[in-house]
Amino acid sequence: MIGLWNSEDAARHPGQLGLRVYSSQLLGRDPSLVLHGGGNTSVKLREVNVLGEALDILYVKGSGWDLATIREPGFAPVRLDHLLKLAALDSLSDPQMVSELATHVVRAGAPAPSVEAILHAILPYPYVDHTHADALLAVTNTADGARRIRDIYGDDVVLIPYVMPGFDLARLCAQEFPRQAHAGTLGMVLLNHGIFSFGGSAQESYQRMIDLVARARAYLESKRAWNLAPAAAAAATAGRQELARLRRDISACAGYPVVFSTHADAKFLGFAQRADIAQVSQQGPVTPDHVIRTKRVPMLGRDVGAFAAAYREYFARHAARIRQPKVMLDPAPRVVLDPAFGLGCAGRSASEAAIVHDIYSHTIDVILAATALGGYRALPEQDIFDVEYWDLEQAKLQKAGAPRPFAGEVALVTGAASGIGKACVGSLLARGAAVIALDINPDVATMFPQPEVRGLHCDVTDADEMARALDSGVGAFGGVDLLVLNAGVFPGGQRVAQLADDEWRRVMQVNLDANLSLLRETYPLLKLALRGGRVVIIGSKNVPAPGPGAAAYSASKAALTQLARVVALEWGADRIRVNTLHPNAVFDTGVWSDEVVAQRARHYGLSVADYKTNNVLKVEVCSRDVAEVAAEMCGSLFDKTTGAQLPVDGGNERVI
Ligand SMILES: [Zn+2]
Repeated sequence: MIGLWNSEDAARHPGQLGLRVYSSQLLGRDPSLVLHGGGNTSVKLREVNVLGEALDILYVKGSGWDLATIREPGFAPVRLDHLLKLAALDSLSDPQMVSELATHVVRAGAPAPSVEAILHAILPYPYVDHTHADALLAVTNTADGARRIRDIYGDDVVLIPYVMPGFDLARLCAQEFPRQAHAGTLGMVLLNHGIFSFGGSAQESYQRMIDLVARARAYLESKRAWNLAPAAAAAATAGRQELARLRRDISACAGYPVVFSTHADAKFLGFAQRADIAQVSQQGPVTPDHVIRTKRVPMLGRDVGAFAAAYREYFARHAARIRQPKVMLDPAPRVVLDPAFGLGCAGRSASEAAIVHDIYSHTIDVILAATALGGYRALPEQDIFDVEYWDLEQAKLQKAGAPRPFAGEVALVTGAASGIGKACVGSLLARGAAVIALDINPDVATMFPQPEVRGLHCDVTDADEMARALDSGVGAFGGVDLLVLNAGVFPGGQRVAQLADDEWRRVMQVNLDANLSLLRETYPLLKLALRGGRVVIIGSKNVPAPGPGAAAYSASKAALTQLARVVALEWGADRIRVNTLHPNAVFDTGVWSDEVVAQRARHYGLSVADYKTNNVLKVEVCSRDVAEVAAEMCGSLFDKTTGAQLPVDGGNERVI
């Protein structure tokens, strides 16, 4: 393990706080040190205020910031003298601590200081770094973790037994640190929690962290307990409908739709198929603050009801023990281990599910290493409960705010790489959905970089490609709740007298047949949607008002509209709504180049501007206009509407 410190990069972060930002980002860049908001860092600076008074200030990571991406505004400046006085108190309640921290920040608009601010304050070094390094957690989550830490570090580190984070931990460290520390002390290990390093400069503190973690890794390597190859695993066998059924059960248990991503890599299949999985996976998280993302233990197999019942008992057992009344969180699992699909991760969004994946992937690394050392032993469940139901941890999740209308739902959009389809992806994302984006253009795989989109190259007229795309999409997000059938072709003007059979069939294949197949294949998935499935079909103004020279196109869209009406009738009992939009003259799509628009405008003797707004309202209709209506049709506004056809055309005299 080597440090990433680079003098040229460091020079781009001037000042002591700048270097604090730089080395915090270096720590955040290594997921084996900290994950998704975990860990924290600080620097103590002397500053002069507007009255000319010198003040000692602790700049500590603000709550809600991630070390990987933190910048100077992410550090909260708190008065150091006050924090040191607090550390000497016998007790301080959480609300008192939060209030004391908030009222002693010296910059308006600064984030809330980390709940570990007092602990950072009592460590007598300018720079302090704290991580939850995998290697440390592997060593300390064992039966004789304290002895192993002494074997590795001798008295180079101060050793603190597990205590709940917050004031109690800070107070214990304030007593223990002076007792154990000496001139050669390099860091502090918190059993079952993580590690601190410190130093006179940002670089010294950072490098000590790297060196201390490297010593733990070297120890694990010497015991053949690090970087273990995944166990041989039987291939995944779970089909997409099984996965969608499980996601539905988890969503119903949670009380809201969840994204459910599955990961059948050898690492996860091998772990889920271990003979001792019921023992090694059911002990608890590797560091307590993971509990708010993963729950205390994963679900083994697919019995969501049994998992929820066990969770309710766990809650009842510990809620009775504490004085403060607590409200139970939803009892649904966040991590699922199953021999047929490996690892499953549930979250309110694809990003949340991705965080669960990252945390559990590292959890497996730690469990495997600790098991190789002789046995993984996590904290007792009451310690985990105390952190799971700690108001200060719950506050972190609540910062996310109210969920968006399609949070946890999964949409599938065809023809998603351009025009109306691409705009639909945007409108659905903006409402919180995860989107499976299909297109015949291979660029679709890379054009949406966010974790909420799975872009898949797919010719919808090819049954095998479609089946593979559905498997991949359901593997990524767990199902399909919303279906937007948009892919279509619009061939150049051909009078019927010249229309070749091949051309007619090609248009029917894409605009009609492929949509029948997609409807049929997604029906079992749509039926499982917690809030009922929704289908929006992009028809055309040509259905109510056809034009000469577009026989195949108009006939295909008319047949598709009729298909949609029948589907609305057949699937109503399954709570699936099917509605059709008829857009007209949407020119910002792949079909219309500026040149073609200009040519058509000339053909009608109109300027380009008049041609584009040649409708009753004299407005231009854009892809985004159609996409917003399509998304709204999937929302609660249209809860009582199915089988409808709605024009999005600026008003057309022939239609009205
Ligand atoms: Zn920590």
